[in-house]
Amino acid sequence: MLSIQDHLLQGDQVTQRQTPNRGGPLVPQYLVMHYTAGSSARSSADWLCNPAAKASAHLVLGRAGEIFQLAPFNVVTWHAGISHWAGLTGMNHFSIGIEMDNAGILRKVGDRYASSFGRFYPDDEVVVARHKHGTVEQAWHAYTEPQIARAFELAELLVTHYGLKEVLGHEDIARGRKSDPGPAFPLASLAARLAGRQDDDFPRYVVTASRLNIRSGPDAAAAPVAPALKLGTEVALLEAGERWSRVEVVGHGDIEGWVFNAYLQPAPPALARRRGADTAAKRATPKPARKTPSRRR
Ligand SMILES: [Zn+2]
Repeated sequence: MLSIQDHLLQGDQVTQRQTPNRGGPLVPQYLVMHYTAGSSARSSADWLCNPAAKASAHLVLGRAGEIFQLAPFNVVTWHAGISHWAGLTGMNHFSIGIEMDNAGILRKVGDRYASSFGRFYPDDEVVVARHKHGTVEQAWHAYTEPQIARAFELAELLVTHYGLKEVLGHEDIARGRKSDPGPAFPLASLAARLAGRQDDDFPRYVVTASRLNIRSGPDAAAAPVAPALKLGTEVALLEAGERWSRVEVVGHGDIEGWVFNAYLQPAPPALARRRGADTAAKRATPKPARKTPSRRR
């Protein structure tokens, strides 16, 4: 499982590097996804740590799910270039960048597909699709399942930890100039899934114990992640389990952990956002919230 400490990623298959290609302090508001158009995560990480590149990113995500972190998340990296979004210009100053190892657009050579650097790919590593901002079908290098799973995990962690507003593609903020991460990456479903987190579209509960421990795992032996929650504290249910549930403290998105179900009760309607019958049903019988993503924004 991944976590963030002092703006650095902790977890399996995470390697810390330090790129000299960096700017000043960053308070991230967005996450921007990219592909490397390179031949391996390691070679891309090496290049993005080379001053000659004049480019960088916070993370490089490999095809086996391995991650290189090149700079802390509170420092500007150089992944976006000329870019605009939501009235902002120069998205390096507002966003965390993740480069995913992927060869990008492929070209057909005979009956095979080749990358710009001359490697060939079997058909099952190729996605033929029209880019959402494009007019014709092209061949794109597929992402791997472990890589996509890890990208979703990273995005969820970063959105929660930093209260990010949105997950974007480089193709969205540098429209017409960039095509990454492209149609082979399920960006729309990632964005839809994460929109729910910022939309508060999770059932709300209140703490009924005078003090309720909030722990790092679903176990009474797991370490507390914050001081015990007081009676009446409102939490958003992120993941419901049989005895323990993962919650986020409403108004303190940085406090997230596991609490014992017996000391939670559904928030009264006055406190809860008005959500209609569907949400009322969800409150009565908690289900894992992540399986019912919201498309609302
Ligand atoms: Zn890019």
